[in-house]
Amino acid sequence: MARTTRGQGQWALGYREPLNPNERSKRDNDPLTVRERIEKIYAPGGFDSIDPADLRGRFRWYGLYTQRAAGIPGGKTALLEPEELDARYFMLRVRTDGGSMTSEQLRVIAGISTEFGRDTADVTDRQNVQLHWIEIESMPEIWRRLEAVGLSTTEACGDSPRVILGCPLAGVLHDEVLDASDAVRDVVERYIGDPQFSNLPRKFKTSISGCSEQCTNHEINDVAFVGVHNEDGEAGYDVWVGGGLSTNPHFAQRLGTFVRPDQVTEVWAGVISVFRDYGYRRSRNHARLKFLVADWGTEKFREVLEKEYLGYALPDGPLPDMPASPQRDHVGVNKQSDGRYAIGFAPSAGRVSGTILTKVAELADTYGKGRIRSTAQQKLVILDVTDVDGLTRELAELDLQVKPSVFRRGTMACTGIEFCKLAIVETKQRAQQLYGELERRLPEFDTPVTINVNGCPNSCARFQTADIGFKGSMVRNERNESVEGFQVHLGGQLGADPQFGRKFRGLKVTADELPDYCERILRGYLDRREDGETFAK
Ligand code: SF4
Repeated sequence: MARTTRGQGQWALGYREPLNPNERSKRDNDPLTVRERIEKIYAPGGFDSIDPADLRGRFRWYGLYTQRAAGIPGGKTALLEPEELDARYFMLRVRTDGGSMTSEQLRVIAGISTEFGRDTADVTDRQNVQLHWIEIESMPEIWRRLEAVGLSTTEACGDSPRVILGCPLAGVLHDEVLDASDAVRDVVERYIGDPQFSNLPRKFKTSISGCSEQCTNHEINDVAFVGVHNEDGEAGYDVWVGGGLSTNPHFAQRLGTFVRPDQVTEVWAGVISVFRDYGYRRSRNHARLKFLVADWGTEKFREVLEKEYLGYALPDGPLPDMPASPQRDHVGVNKQSDGRYAIGFAPSAGRVSGTILTKVAELADTYGKGRIRSTAQQKLVILDVTDVDGLTRELAELDLQVKPSVFRRGTMACTGIEFCKLAIVETKQRAQQLYGELERRLPEFDTPVTINVNGCPNSCARFQTADIGFKGSMVRNERNESVEGFQVHLGGQLGADPQFGRKFRGLKVTADELPDYCERILRGYLDRREDGETFAK
């Protein structure tokens, strides 16, 4: 039965009084105003000059999170005061909409990592590049450098329209439905940093893609525009709303409309406006668009969108095709429509460095036309390549694998306890060790498998949609000691028959047991599989 929508703080129903401290903070001071304070007050004044409401709230609108103070073990965070958890350093997310970067832009990001970020960097599964160890004093210079090459950190985090996912091969993929690059660019140029969408109930994740492999995972975005051909053969988009993971996962649902490419921006603005005005603001745990869509259903959502925001009815449209392969990452050698090649490669569970990114930028200039893309699977792609072998060889020297093992290719890890204040366990190193062990123990394993390692229930690395999903938690070892470990979720998948991985009652493994556990279930599959059976099916 639908929950009542009254009393959830929806602006459209007249609830303008903030119902929690986050809502009050946004109402009292538009988070976009914090940029000026960082430049004028906090950067000159240093960490101790920062107002806590800005530090732990509004900073996010510019991609800044305080980093976790070193040495605080998992499971202890709830017992600490916020300031005990804060390092005096920041994680900084650089917005790369559609995963699109030029070599010049990547060089600038890489330079910031080496000069201001202790040479660490992560390629995230939202196609951002995330830097660490950033000091507030450096931010004006960092923004100056980023903006000089057309990059930004605006609304990279916060209750705002986050980075827009797009196919890394948009415009060159030989069998794409359509090239969504212009649509991504148009939404960014018109609406990112616009105060009319800077106070949303929660974050808002978008995907706009014409990729035939569905590489941007439209099923788990707040709004997704998915390339389709209508019955007249015209290319446009099918619109999905209300997807999201975290602690209460929902798959997005189709509105059943057909949207022409020139309508994407206004339909996107309509959907985000519905969220802003009707989204639930009472409890942050219940504020994502998925809860509104679940309560309303798609019929009502579409009616409100059309009548109150667009002012016209959209035509019905067809379902998109779902890819046959569960691998949606463009890793390997992909032939472009112009005869050149897009070379996708796997870093180590998303972890790179400024030094490596500088070299990737050089390789993109040497072997291509200086175009680099990030993927929604923590991978990178260099476009426009002719000498595939030469580039593959040079990437391998950097431990960037064009033909990675199925384990390395299929493993993702979130930020984890190294930097994330919400983390319960370490993830990046464990994921790297895990795929390394599995490569050694199961060299014969030849079928795609996804293993997603997460440091807490927030599911930044999507444990519910992996074949083997790990959710960080404290568990008891054989000596009954509380140690880092994982709750196991098995059998998650996206695509034509999407399902969330099932949590097996009591199935928890200690971090040390990860390789043994994975080996056991992967060997079980090898021993019992029938002809043509993939691990997922
Ligand atoms: Fe941090 Fe949890 Fe997200 Fe991992 S899943 S990055 S630990 S919030």
